[in-house]
Amino acid sequence: MYKKWMALAVAAIVPLSMLPGQAPAQTPTPTPTPIPVVASFSILGDLVTEVGGDRVAVSTLVGRDSDAHVFQPAPKDVKTVASARVLVINGLGFDGWMNRLASTGGAGAGRIVVEASQGLAGRPQAAEKAGHDHGGHSHGHGHKKGHDHGPVDPHAWQDPRNVVTYVRNIAAGLTRADPAGAAYYAQRATAYTARLTELDGWAAQRIAQVPPAKRKVITSHDAFGYFAARYGITMVAVAGVSTNADAGARDMADIIRLIRRENVKALFLENIANPRLIEQIASETGAQVGGSLYSDALSATGGPAPTYLAMMRHNVETLVAGMQRN
Ligand SMILES: [Zn+2]
Repeated sequence: MYKKWMALAVAAIVPLSMLPGQAPAQTPTPTPTPIPVVASFSILGDLVTEVGGDRVAVSTLVGRDSDAHVFQPAPKDVKTVASARVLVINGLGFDGWMNRLASTGGAGAGRIVVEASQGLAGRPQAAEKAGHDHGGHSHGHGHKKGHDHGPVDPHAWQDPRNVVTYVRNIAAGLTRADPAGAAYYAQRATAYTARLTELDGWAAQRIAQVPPAKRKVITSHDAFGYFAARYGITMVAVAGVSTNADAGARDMADIIRLIRRENVKALFLENIANPRLIEQIASETGAQVGGSLYSDALSATGGPAPTYLAMMRHNVETLVAGMQRN
């Protein structure tokens, strides 16, 4: 009975598509020429690739393991930006050099600029921590060269819920540049948003396994404010929200006092920051360096953080392992 039914079903399907003179069931869609998109840094480049798929050709100005805070555009970057149909920037004062590049990079007629963080309020830059006494002036000691952060912390991507907004803005920008791809971008954005929601739930659950009193961490620069607020971690950074604000931004003696007082053993390096200060703190306090976090850039493709999702999972696992030792 089963075999007979199958045979009937197959017989009913096959001849339809074989009939001469009938249009094939599926008209092959011509592959569109990918639209050139330039993202300011590697994490955004990954998000644009996730949303844009085969319809976009993504270039990234600040590459993997590289520091966007101190980026100096080269003449070739002006050309790359000039050839872009869509520019994707973080905003919140992180990549202001991109706006300057865009305005010098040729006519720019019809070029679409997407500010991925648009619509997010942005956290205020953390006030001084660690009992610091510089009267709220976060970058004293004359360390002001090239520092153009506003009063807002730009590292919004460190909370996956914010990246849902990034993805929505990227999909909207790509759709404006390429209306024929609207359904394609919407479908990919929806699928990726589901993965972000899954990541966020997993991270919250993983970190909840660490007792609240142990959720204290020392990092190189102040890149994890959104992450810390989302998952209930106290993070103290040696430098300010820019890697450009060097050791003077926080007093080393204050940091060391805090580590001793709070008995913090979880110290972390960052892929884009100089390891020297963290290593110095480790040797003076006996705290252990718990590995590298990826704050503002992805790792190389063969590394532990080649995509945004992999980066966040790596950071969570590394932090949890380090905090368990507190
Ligand atoms: Zn940063």
